[in-house]
Amino acid sequence: MAPRFFVGGTDTILAAEAEFPLPEPVVRHAQVLRLAPGDAITLFDGRGGSHAATLLELGKRHAVARIGAHDAAEAEPPFRVTLAQGLAGGDKMDWLIEKAVELGVAAIQPLQANRSVVRLTGDRAQKRQAHWQALVQAACEQCGRNRLPAVAPVANFETWLAQSGGSGAGARLLVSPRAEQSLPAYVAERRDALLADGVTLLIGPEGGLSPEEERTARQAGFTGVSLGPRILRTETAGLACLSTLNALLGGF
Ligand code: SAM
Repeated sequence: MAPRFFVGGTDTILAAEAEFPLPEPVVRHAQVLRLAPGDAITLFDGRGGSHAATLLELGKRHAVARIGAHDAAEAEPPFRVTLAQGLAGGDKMDWLIEKAVELGVAAIQPLQANRSVVRLTGDRAQKRQAHWQALVQAACEQCGRNRLPAVAPVANFETWLAQSGGSGAGARLLVSPRAEQSLPAYVAERRDALLADGVTLLIGPEGGLSPEEERTARQAGFTGVSLGPRILRTETAGLACLSTLNALLGGF
C-alpha cells in the first residue's frame, strides 16, 4: 500500500492531474519515510475517498505531488459508534484512541468523571484534545480510513449527560459490570435499529463510574450492558465493545 497522507483543510482542492503543494507536516513525514520523487503516495482530505498521487519534488521544506485518479472506496464500518470515555491516566487515552479508530469508532467524547485520576481543564484540556485529534489522523493514515473521527473537547460528565440524547446519539449504552444484559444479547435483539441509528458507549475510568453517575446515566435513558464476569481495564472495555459490534453488525 502506498503511504497515505491526510491533507485536509478548508481550502484543500484535490483535482485530478493538478500539481499539489504538500503541507509542511506531510513534507516532514515524507522525509522520515525516505520517500523520493517518483514514489506513489495516497492523499485524502476527509471529504470521502482518496486520490492516488505521485511525488514530483521533495525538498527540505517543500514537496509537490501530482494528483491522480479519485478512488471512492471507504473503509467505514456499517454502523456509527460514539465512544464516551471516562478520562484515564498515563498514556491509556492515547492507546485506546488509536485502537478505537482502527476498530471504526466514529466520534470520541472524553469525559471528566468523578473517579478520573486525571483532571484536565482549560489550556491543558485543549492541548490534549489537539494531541488526540493528531493521533486520530495518524491512525486513519495508517489503517486506511478516509473519514476522520472527531475528538470532542473534554466534557464534565453531568454536563455531557444532560445533552447526550441529541440527534446522532443512537442507542445509549452504559457499559457496566453490574448490568443485567450482555452486550451481544442486546445487539442481537436490535440489529436493524443499531445499524440505522448508531450507538453511544459510556465507559467508566479506571475506578469505574460512581454509583451516582451510573444512576443518573440510567435516569437519563442509558441501558446497562455487560461484558461478562471478568473486570476489564477501562482501555480494554471500549475496544471489546467495538470488536463485538464489528463481529455482530458486519464490520469485519
Ligand atoms: N471496580 C470498577 C467497577 O466496578 O465499575 C471497575 C471499573 S473497570 C476497570 C472500568 C470500566 O470498564 C467500567 O466502568 C466499565 O465501563 C468497563 N468494564 C470493565 N469490565 C466490564 C465488564 N465486565 N462489563 C461491563 N463493563 C466493564
